[in-house]
Amino acid sequence: MLLNFLGRDSGFGNNHTSAFFFTESNDIVVIDCPISTFQKLRKANLTDHEHIYVLITHTHGDHIGGLGLFVQHVFFNLHKKVSVVAPSKEVANDLQTVLTIEGNETEWYHLITADLLSEENWFVSCVLTEHAPQLAGKCFGYVLIISGKAVVYTGDTSTLKPFEPYFPMCNELYVDTSVHYGMVHLKLEDALIDFIGLSKNGTEVFLMHLDDAEAAHMLIVDFPGINVVTVE
Ligand SMILES: [Zn+2]
Ligand SMILES: [Zn+2]
Repeated sequence: MLLNFLGRDSGFGNNHTSAFFFTESNDIVVIDCPISTFQKLRKANLTDHEHIYVLITHTHGDHIGGLGLFVQHVFFNLHKKVSVVAPSKEVANDLQTVLTIEGNETEWYHLITADLLSEENWFVSCVLTEHAPQLAGKCFGYVLIISGKAVVYTGDTSTLKPFEPYFPMCNELYVDTSVHYGMVHLKLEDALIDFIGLSKNGTEVFLMHLDDAEAAHMLIVDFPGINVVTVE
């Protein structure tokens, strides 16, 4: 696994899905910031990293619930500013509203849109996808390069379609999968055939944002290229 996971649960679980990696220049890039991620990052030693990025996929509470506190922790305790990365201008505006409501001054953090990361060798693209109708047009995944390998991280999604152009180059796919629920998420029994196809073409598939990790394990046990993410 090129990504390190801080949680793999869906919205009603305890440890919401979030991950991080280190760049070649020793910056830390965190994907989404639920409250459980804030609690774990608060205990981590982040002082050596010049830049602390938080990439946001979308604004559901299980993805941004700890962002305001994390911004304050980094500003007041580490005397740095988090670079909050929004996938679009619209999401950036929403994030600024949330951060302001939570009592953050705009000077306490950098809020940038993902297109400003094009100079970074670890960033490829963000990808608009379909998830909850209330957030239509505001839910994204990310394509990243980690240790020279291509990673597709879907964020919450009900479809693989927008990510398909990246699959031929994809070494690792991290994909929102539910066993029982489906609807605004990919349902494992429906998506399994696509995961098997990707795995046969050399993409390692990692299931995340799970409603039932044990049941997911049982369903993929015969497919070595398909895994449930492990959490730190
Ligand atoms: Zn979610
Ligand atoms: Zn969501």
